[in-house]
Amino acid sequence: MYRKNAWENYDEQEMQRLTAFAEDYKAFIDAGKTERECVEQAVAAAERAGYVSLETVIRENRRLKAGDRVYQNWMNKDFLLYVIGEKPLEEGMNILGAHIDSPRIDVKQNPLYEDESIAYLDTHYYGGIKKYQWVALPLALHGVIVRKDGTSERVSIGEDAADPVFYISDLLIHLAQDQMAKPAREVVEGEALNLIVGSVPLKGEEKEPVKKAVLKLLNEKYGVEEEDLLSAELEIVPAGKARDVGFDRSLIAGYGHDDRVCSYPSMRAVLDYEGTPAYTLCAVLTDKEEIGSVGATGMGSEYFVNGTAEIYNAVYGSYSELGLKRMLRSSRMLSSDVSAGFDPNFAGVFEKKNAALLGRGVCFNKFTGRGGKSGSNDANAEYVAQIRRIMDENNVDFQTAELGKVDVGGGGTIAYICAKYGMNVIDAGIAVLSMHAPWELVSKADLWEEYKCYCAFLKDARAF
Ligand code: MN
Ligand code: MN
Repeated sequence: MYRKNAWENYDEQEMQRLTAFAEDYKAFIDAGKTERECVEQAVAAAERAGYVSLETVIRENRRLKAGDRVYQNWMNKDFLLYVIGEKPLEEGMNILGAHIDSPRIDVKQNPLYEDESIAYLDTHYYGGIKKYQWVALPLALHGVIVRKDGTSERVSIGEDAADPVFYISDLLIHLAQDQMAKPAREVVEGEALNLIVGSVPLKGEEKEPVKKAVLKLLNEKYGVEEEDLLSAELEIVPAGKARDVGFDRSLIAGYGHDDRVCSYPSMRAVLDYEGTPAYTLCAVLTDKEEIGSVGATGMGSEYFVNGTAEIYNAVYGSYSELGLKRMLRSSRMLSSDVSAGFDPNFAGVFEKKNAALLGRGVCFNKFTGRGGKSGSNDANAEYVAQIRRIMDENNVDFQTAELGKVDVGGGGTIAYICAKYGMNVIDAGIAVLSMHAPWELVSKADLWEEYKCYCAFLKDARAF
C-alpha cells in the first residue's frame, strides 16, 4: 500500500507551524525529564488556559456544564484534562492517552557509598534499557527529596550549562577482552550502574571522607541528611537538551520521546480545542507504563475511573455507577505510544510493509502484544474504519504498523487497560528510532501529523 512522504505536503506556511510546534515540544521535554516535571508543566499550562482543578470542583461541590474545563493532578505523576461536551456523558468521551514516564536509572533508597576515594550513588534502573548505552556519557539528576515533616526539596542538577553532571564509567577497551565477548545484556550489569558523584575528601576525616564531603554539600544545598534519601525519588537521565538532527533539521534527538512525543501533542490538542465540543474530551497522561502500568499512579490503578466518576457527579449532581459504566463503554480512545520505527541498519527484525516509517505520518497499531498477539488490545475493524475516515477527511497522513516481525519480539501499551471498560481503543503514535536509548530519534513531520491527528480525532470521533 502506497504511503507518501509527509514532507511533500507542506507549503511554507505549514512548514512554519510545524517548526514552531517542534520547538514547543523540545522546550517541553527539556523541562520535563521526569513524570513529575511533565505534570508540573501540564498543570501550569492548564491553569494558564483557564482550567479549574478537579480538587476545587469537589471541594466547592461545583456543577459542571458544557464548555467547562477541568484538570486533575494525581499524586504529581498523572495528569488529566476534561472539556465537558454538549452530548450526554453516556454517549462517551473522545479520549487521548499517553504516558509521561520514560526509561531511566533510579537512585536506590540507601544509595551513597565510597570506594577508593570515589563517592557513588547506587542505582536500580527503571524500565527496559540496554544498560551498556547508559555509561560514559553526561548524566543529570532530577527528582525530589521529602523530609519526615513533609517538606521537600526539588532536585535538578546537570541541565544548566554551568551545572556539573554525573557519570557512570565503562571499562577501557584495552582491558575489555572478556567483556567484549559477553552477551550484550551482561556487558554492563545492573549492579554496576554506579553513579560517580564526587572525589574530594572532607579534611581531617578518617572514615569515608569523600562520602562525608558529599553529604556536607547535599546538606548545604538542600538542607537534607543522609536519612532523608530514604524518602527521595531521584532519577538519573541523560544531561542536556533535545537537538535537531540532519542538515535539513528534519529530525529530533531527545530523551524520553517514549512517550512524551505522544503526551505533549495529546495535551496540546485538548488545550488548543476552542469552544464547546459535541462529546466530552479527555486527555490522560499516565505514569508507570514502562514497568507494567502498576501502582497507584499506573494506568492499572483506578485513578482515571475515579476522576471520571467525579466529572460524572459534577455534571449530573448525582452519581450513577450504571451511568459511569455507560459513559466509559461508549468512549473512543487513542492510546498513544511510540512505534518501532523501521531502521534500515537493522532491517532484519522488521516486516517492511507493516513497519512504521519515519516521515510517513502518525502510525496506528491495530494490535500490539507478542507472539500470537498475546496481551494485546486488538481494535475493532469498525473503529479502524472510523479512524481512517477521520484522518482522510482532515488530510492527516497516517500509516499502520506492528511491532517488528511476528516471532521477533513485542511489547505492550496502556490500550488493553482502557479496553477493559469496553471502550473502543486503538494504539496510535509515531515512529521512533533507538527506542529506550538515552537519546531517541523522531521526525518533526510525524510529530506534526500526530498533533493534527489528535485535533481531528477530538473534533470528529463519534459514538457507534
Ligand atoms: Mn511507550
Ligand atoms: Mn517504552
